[in-house]
Amino acid sequence: MTNSTTPLLPEMAEIWQQTLNWQPTTQQQEKFQQLYQSILEGNAQLNLTRITEPQEFWEKHLWDSLRGIVQQGQFIPSLQEGASVIDIGTGAGFPGVPVGIIAPNSTVTLLDSTRKKINFIDKVITALELKNCQTLVGRSEEIGQQTQHRQIYDLALIRAVGTTSVCAEYTLPLLKQGGLAVIYRGTWTEEETQALHNAVKQLGGEVESIEQFITPLSDSIRNCLYLRKIATTPAKFPRAVGVPTQKPL
Ligand code: SAM
Repeated sequence: MTNSTTPLLPEMAEIWQQTLNWQPTTQQQEKFQQLYQSILEGNAQLNLTRITEPQEFWEKHLWDSLRGIVQQGQFIPSLQEGASVIDIGTGAGFPGVPVGIIAPNSTVTLLDSTRKKINFIDKVITALELKNCQTLVGRSEEIGQQTQHRQIYDLALIRAVGTTSVCAEYTLPLLKQGGLAVIYRGTWTEEETQALHNAVKQLGGEVESIEQFITPLSDSIRNCLYLRKIATTPAKFPRAVGVPTQKPL
C-alpha cells in the first residue's frame, strides 16, 4: 500500500534499541510508513504538520510519541493489555496513532475539537486497519463532564495543547482513580513544577515523576510529566470551555 512517490521513513533500528530498548516489528514499520504517506497527502488539503522530512518526522512524531509510553523495552504499566487510552487534542494523530499502532490490545480514543482533523484521522484509521482506535470530536472541557467519558480511562496523553495546568485540567477528570496522565513538553523549569503541583492537587492527582531526555537526532530537550490520579476529581472540573486557558489553576 505504500506510494512510490512518498520518501521512505528511516528504520532506525539501532536508535530505537539504544534509546527505548525496543524496536518496531516489520508490520508496525509498514504502518508508520502508511501513516507518513497519509499525512503528506492530507497536508495538501489540511494544515496538519510542518514536520514532513522523513528523519524529522521519525524523530518528532514517531520517536517522541513512543518515548512517553515505552520504558526499558516495556509499555508503562498504565498501558497494560486492554487499557483504555485517550489522546486529547490529537491533531494529525500524535501521540495517539503511533501508540495505537504498537499497542493493539489497548483501545485508543483520539479526541480533537476540529471536525476536519477528526475526519482525516477517520480515514487514517480505516486505511491502516487500526481496529483498536476510535475518534471523538469535542472540547475536552465538555467531554470531561460527560458520564460516558469521565473517570473511565487508564491513560490520558496530551501533547502541544496548552500550558501544563491546562493539560492537567483536561486530562485528570477523564482518568479512573489510579490512572496516569502523560504530558509531553519541550523545556521545563523548576518554577513550573511548583505551579503544576498546586493545579494537580486541586484535580485529585499528584505529580509522580518528571523525565527529561534528549532527542536522538537533533539533541533537543524534551520532558514527559507523569501525573497519577489518586482521588476523585471535584465535579466543577474541568471548568467551562475556555476557562482553563483564561484562568489557569
Ligand atoms: N497533539 C498533536 C501534536 O502534538 O502533534 C496536535 C497538537 S496541535 C498544536 C493542538 C490540537 O489540540 C489542535 O488540533 C486543536 O484542535 C486541539 N485542541 C485544542 N484545544 C482543545 C480542547 N480543549 N479539546 C480538544 N481539542 C483541543
